[in-house]
Parts: sequence; structure tokens; C-alpha cells
Amino acid sequence: MTNKQQILILGAGESGVGAALLAHKLKCDVFVSDSNTIKPQFKKELEDLHIAYEEGIHSDERIEWSTTIIKSPGIPNHVAALQKASQLGKEIISEIEFAGRHTNATTVCVTGSNGKTTTTALIGHILMENGLDACICGNIGRSFARELSKSDHKIFVIELSSFQLEHMFEFRANIAILLNITPDHLERYSNSMQEYAKAKLRITQNQTSNDWFIYNADDSTIASMLPTFNNRGKQFGFSLTTKQNDGAYADNQSIYVNINNHTTIMNIEALALQGKHNVYNSMAAAVAAHMFEFRKDTLKKSFQTFQKIEHRLEFVAKVHGISFFNDSKATNVNSVWYALESMKSPIIWIAGGIDKGNDYDALLPLVKEKVKALICLGNDNTKLMEAFKPHIEVVLETTSMMDAVNTAYHIGNPNDIVLLSPACASFDLFENFEDRGIQFKNAIREL
Ligand code: ADP
Repeated sequence: MTNKQQILILGAGESGVGAALLAHKLKCDVFVSDSNTIKPQFKKELEDLHIAYEEGIHSDERIEWSTTIIKSPGIPNHVAALQKASQLGKEIISEIEFAGRHTNATTVCVTGSNGKTTTTALIGHILMENGLDACICGNIGRSFARELSKSDHKIFVIELSSFQLEHMFEFRANIAILLNITPDHLERYSNSMQEYAKAKLRITQNQTSNDWFIYNADDSTIASMLPTFNNRGKQFGFSLTTKQNDGAYADNQSIYVNINNHTTIMNIEALALQGKHNVYNSMAAAVAAHMFEFRKDTLKKSFQTFQKIEHRLEFVAKVHGISFFNDSKATNVNSVWYALESMKSPIIWIAGGIDKGNDYDALLPLVKEKVKALICLGNDNTKLMEAFKPHIEVVLETTSMMDAVNTAYHIGNPNDIVLLSPACASFDLFENFEDRGIQFKNAIREL
């Protein structure tokens, strides 16, 4: 890329501003455009570096001026500005593509419907604990471009949402991990699971025979797509049901990682992350870690020293014998399935919010077996009520977190579990899932 490139960045969130910082560092001509108002902290960053921007509009002149457009992942492809840019034949790339063009680092990329943040953080932890210069970035927090603008690293461990996998052309993941594909965000993919799955599989594009593709071999959608796509990377499956000669599998006690005819065995009970879903995440991370050839004892130790992340099946407190778990990040049915599955006592389940087209049938067997009460917490609880009222003895509606926690506490008995695992987005009553989880924890402290 020459210094004379005229880069227009559409969207001034974390990824757009990250791209702007990198473009500025590379001495490109850069302009940032956001059709909404830009958050003050991002504005300040742009102003501090004298990076020009506009807000409330994507102006035509800027599109005409640009040689390359970097599109933020939140912007749908049908917006007028992108249509115009395509008509004018402009190059439209993602922030990940842009950053990828400016580093020779090893890239470890994690995608899937659930478990991305946990697995990305776990891999980053393992690499750093074993003395490698690794940086965790992407959807998990700070963008790849922002981190690269601060400093280059030996390894970037990047969490990628399906939106971030769009507009990638040359980007190559040295390790690509596909955790699972279950329905989520289908509205962006014309309600087609196949389109959504195709977007996720884009993580393997440009892989060479030196690269690794690590995938969930138990996932029926992935299994059905695998034969249809052409990936040159070395493939490693992970499974809870079938022995993998190249990859990882687990029984009730242990994870077995088989790479190049060597087996590493890890005791599941000793892992920092518990629950069936986390066995999957740990298997994926363990296979990835083998690319870096660590000593077995230090590798195993790093799985034990990992600190769990907030809002993902997080144990909060025990009050009068009732245990409270915060799983506010469970915004779809599949993640709730794993939360219910991992609980060993009767559950008072707090759920609800903005329904993303959920089909609750998959939860019914676990709900009938384990849930003694459902406390709905959303502006519109119709769908939840319809799905579960015939199957759960106590179903109640609440409209604030304080009310939901108090109600759960009053109907709870010692040894019960109160589980916030909403299966829905949070924006009707909360700012985001973090706000929802924090309000849950605050309400518990007030009991
Ligand atoms: P993501 O970044 O993909 O949203 P997180 O690691 O933040 O994933 O976890 C989101 C939710 O999904 C949490 O409720 C967590 O307990 C659950 N979860 C984590 N890993 C998995 C998995 N492999 N399969 C299903 N659910 C999972």
C-alpha cells in the first residue's frame, strides 16, 4: 500500500477508530464517516490526532474521493453509501483485512456462534503464560487495527464475529477455529442458516497447507458443510462423542489431544473452566496450543490458572443456601442449553429480553427436568410464556432486575440455583449484556 492511499472509514466505533489510528500511523490520507453521532471518547481520539471526520451522514463527495473504503462490521451491505461505492468500483474492505495487510504476525482466529470470547481469552492466556508475545484483540474488546497501531506482536489472537468475516480478501488465518454454528443473527443472512454458515466458514479462506483449521466435529451444520468447501489447511476436529486421530476428544474424565501421533491427556476436573461447553472450548484451545509446541506440564498448568470471564456462567454468591449464577452473555438458545445442562440442583431461571427469533423446543427436556420456576424479565414476555407455561409450575413476569432477583430469592429454598441466562438480547431494559449482569449482581448484594 502506498502512502498516498485515500482511506474512507465508514463507522466510528471500536473497529473504525482502530482502522483510523492504523491508517494515520501508516501516513495514509484518512477520513472517518459515521451516519450516527460518534461517541465522545472516539471523537477525542480522532481529534487528538487531527483525523478529519463527519457524523450524521456519509457524504457522496467523500465516497468519490476515496481510493479504499474500510467498512465497520455493524454496517449492513445494503446502505446507500456502500451501494454507491460499489457502483463506483471502490475497493471495500474490513478492518481485519486492512490490519492483516500490515503485519507478518501469526494469526489465531476464533469464530462460532458461542464461546468465542472465552476461547480467545483462554488461548491468549495459554500463549502468554508460556512466554510468547501474543495480543488478544477483535470482537473481544480492542480492535486488531488499534492493537497493531500501538505495536506489532509475534501472535495476534483475534475473536471474529461473522460480520467481521465479511469483506476479507487476502486475510489468512494461520490457525482458524470454528467452535459451533447454531442459529443467531439470522436476520443479517436472509434467515438462511446456510448463508450464516458460509459466512462463518470464510474464516478458512486463503489458508495454506501450513495452516490449521480446528473445528467442532460434533456440530451437524459444520459436518454437512465441510465436504462442500475447499480448504487447504490441516484439519483437526474436536469431539465429545468420537475419537479424533488428528484433533481432540474427551470422555467424562479427560481430554485427549492427538497431534502428529503424540497424545496429551488433560484431567477435566483440574481445568479452570467447567461445564460441557467449556470442554469444547478447552479442546479447541488445546489443539491450537499444540501448534506452538510447549512443554506438556506448562501447557496443562496454563489451563488451570485461567481466570474465568465475567457474565459467562459466573458464580456470584450463595445467600441462605441459594446459589446465584450470572450468565447474562447467554443471548441465544444454545448457550442457555449449556447453562441448564451444567446445573446440578433445582433451577429458578431468569430469562427474557428481546427475542431474536428463538425456537425454545430444544430447551424443553432440560427445562422439564431441572427448572422449578421461570421468572420472565422483558418488556414483552409473550413468547417465553407461551413456550414454557404448560411445562413449569411457577411462571412469573417482572419488569426490573431488582424485582426479578427478589422474587427468585423469595421462592427459592436452600440448595436451589438462581440462574440468569436470558436467551435474549438485553436492549429493552438494559444498556447491554454487561449492564444486565452488573444489575443482577448488585441486586444480589442488596438481599
Ligand atoms: P461469544 O463470544 O461467542 O458470545 P462467550 O464466550 O462470550 O461467547 O459466551 C457466551 C455464552 O455462551 C455464555 O453464556 C457461555 O456460557 C456460553 N458458551 C460458552 N462457550 C460455549 C460453547 N462452546 N457452546 C455453547 N455455549 C457456550
